[in-house]
Amino acid sequence: MIIVMKPDATRQDIQKVEQRLLDLGFHTHPIYGEKKTVIGAVGDKSRIDPSNLARMVGVEAIVPIMKPYKLVGRELTKEPSVVDVGSGVRFGGEELVVIAGPCAIEGEEQIYQVAQAVKKSGARVLRGGAFKPRTSPYSFQGLEEEGLKLLYQVKQDLDMPVITEVVDTRDVELVSRYSDILQVGARNMQNFRLLSECGKTKKPVLLKRGLSSTIEEWLMAAEYIVSEGDSRVILCERGIRTFETATRNTMDINAIAVVKELSHLPIIADPSHGTGNWKYVNAAARAFVAAGADGLIIEVHPDPQHAASDGPQSLKPEVFDELMQVLKPIAQAVGRTF
Ligand code: PEP
Ligand code: MN
Repeated sequence: MIIVMKPDATRQDIQKVEQRLLDLGFHTHPIYGEKKTVIGAVGDKSRIDPSNLARMVGVEAIVPIMKPYKLVGRELTKEPSVVDVGSGVRFGGEELVVIAGPCAIEGEEQIYQVAQAVKKSGARVLRGGAFKPRTSPYSFQGLEEEGLKLLYQVKQDLDMPVITEVVDTRDVELVSRYSDILQVGARNMQNFRLLSECGKTKKPVLLKRGLSSTIEEWLMAAEYIVSEGDSRVILCERGIRTFETATRNTMDINAIAVVKELSHLPIIADPSHGTGNWKYVNAAARAFVAAGADGLIIEVHPDPQHAASDGPQSLKPEVFDELMQVLKPIAQAVGRTF
């Protein structure tokens, strides 16, 4: 980090700050300018609170050199990382990868029907919630292990990787027995114990952006997972909460370019939760593919009007199929295979 001293800091102020840094185990490199002095400090910052230094007499600002997300950032890893989830499906490579399926697994017939349809249309990964983090405690909470078993059965029958959400540290082991990818939902983005437990499984993790999270907070959450020793995280922009109420969330299209600049992790978009309305899913999906997203996750239900969860934003299989056709030339125009 760099400690910037105020223009009126005295020699004594500068010496005191330098001594404090030395006491904390840092090497110091002061540069005495005509108007200002800056002190370069090299050492382990993890055990100190920089705000204590910032309060010392004569200090103007503390400027960190490294981003607070070293492992997922671009500073140490320049090349984009590719996340292999099995059966030849890779996120972050040349291929645009589409995940599709119902918000919640409701039964054998429903999940098979959707899986077969979305696979035929070109989806590479099947989604289906078994533990549902519903806003109301009275809403359908998911089929839990019964749902996981159904998902696993479909995965084997159709040779399709599957993804499902894990909402509690107590379920991480159970969910990772059945699912190829662990989904950490928006409501749990800053559940740090859950992130660490997911990281320990060494399974790929899809980390959704928190409801009101900044990109920096999101990347630090990814760092919790990766710091357990595995770098297989896929980020997912699913819209954030703004003053706008016309759509369920406001999708941050800037997040794609910003994340690509700051991080080597793949990033996909979720136009279903991002818009909350099936009519807007097509436009948002097209925009995110054009912006450079590595993939999409889309909710599909055979009978959205009777869906147990998120019916209003779910596409019927035939509407999903049309969308996949529309996406083809866009994906190709931005250099993706699809
Ligand atoms: C979901 O994918 O069904 C879900 C609950 O998403 P989010 O965490 O983005 O709200
Ligand atoms: Mn949903």
